[in-house]
Amino acid sequence: MDYARFFEEQVSGLKAEGRYRVFTEIMRRVSRFPEAAYYTQRGTRDIVVWCSNDYLGMGQHPTVLAAMHEAIDLCGAGAGGTRNISGNNRFHVLLEQELASLHGTEAALLFTSGYTANMTTLMTLGASIPGCTIFSDSQNHNSMIEGIRHSRAPRMVFRHNDVAHLEELLAQAPVNAPKLIAFESVYSMDGDIAPIEKICDVAEKYNAMTFLDEVHAVGMYGAHGGGVSERDGQSHRITFIQGTLAKAIGVHGGYVAGSRAAVDFIRSFGQGFIFSSSMPPAVAAGARASIQYLKQHNELRDRHQERAETLRQKLAAAGLPAIVTKSHIVPVLVGDAARCKQASDLLLDEHGIYIQPINYPTVPRGSERLRITPTPLHTDAQMDDLVGSLLAVWAKLDLKMSA
Ligand SMILES: *Cc1c(COP(=O)(O)O)cnc(C)c1O
Repeated sequence: MDYARFFEEQVSGLKAEGRYRVFTEIMRRVSRFPEAAYYTQRGTRDIVVWCSNDYLGMGQHPTVLAAMHEAIDLCGAGAGGTRNISGNNRFHVLLEQELASLHGTEAALLFTSGYTANMTTLMTLGASIPGCTIFSDSQNHNSMIEGIRHSRAPRMVFRHNDVAHLEELLAQAPVNAPKLIAFESVYSMDGDIAPIEKICDVAEKYNAMTFLDEVHAVGMYGAHGGGVSERDGQSHRITFIQGTLAKAIGVHGGYVAGSRAAVDFIRSFGQGFIFSSSMPPAVAAGARASIQYLKQHNELRDRHQERAETLRQKLAAAGLPAIVTKSHIVPVLVGDAARCKQASDLLLDEHGIYIQPINYPTVPRGSERLRITPTPLHTDAQMDDLVGSLLAVWAKLDLKMSA
């Protein structure tokens, strides 16, 4: 076999479809977020980032940076091992306590990423609980899908956020069979929110466990940033709350939180946890400082929601096809992969505005979009500039305006 040719052919298929991924090289600047420098072949230029998952700008917060500097000076760079073999630093333990406190759970367990937290926890549960069936929302993130797939447990997919369909499927499984419902709170591409209370109701009725991915909600919802489960008063009903430290928390890593017994089980059997070196202590220290700050600063969450709502109104007033959501995510529909990429390129090259195109398989074909994530640090002037630039690009490419 001609391996090189195989690789090239596969990739050129993506190029023909217009969904070959080109990474935009930027330099984030402390104290200037959401501004950044963009590296092009013709030198660098200043841009405004409108697609960051550093949703609250905590990645540059002085409190977080100070905690990280301090921890580096104290402990050095790496953790030096897995949690079991010399890599269980004091900062990991403190961060897990902080996470358990954030979610009101007995315990929490750190992973090197949110992806690994999902993959390892779902894989471990599905593979080790005899006869367990996993009920999975049709729009679950790839990390959950892969965890479920690798667990080899039987899987039933329910229609997105459709509790009646979920119940129909639960009723089909044997009454005494173990069951696990896997879903997210805020879905990151459409920005819609799961009916957590109703899902917990059917979970209890059918004695099913619940696994909730709060990656796009932690830090941003609830009185202390404990996610939509905190906002809705449902945290105590969730078996596993999963989150990331790399988005609104602004640093890196992932975790699950739950009862002492449930977390201890994953700690003891989860291979993606056991066999991977723990995160650098300074990363843990930074994440902890960020969570502690966010717990006490509701005004940042209010400002975040206000910014998203203001942008939605500005886009709607301009006739741009923004999807209406009840979250901080503002998607604008393009509906074609190649044109979505073109729109993104034009925004960056001609307007200094960075919004990565979102194409299949991240979203279904025909719903390609620009996914905008306004933060508390985006100003009105930056928003007006964004709207004007979008209008210019929409006119140039003859894209569809809102109905
Ligand atoms: C980003 C993301 C993850 C993975 O988290 P990382 O910490 O980036 O690995 C998991 N679930 C969802 C829904 C995500 O969007």
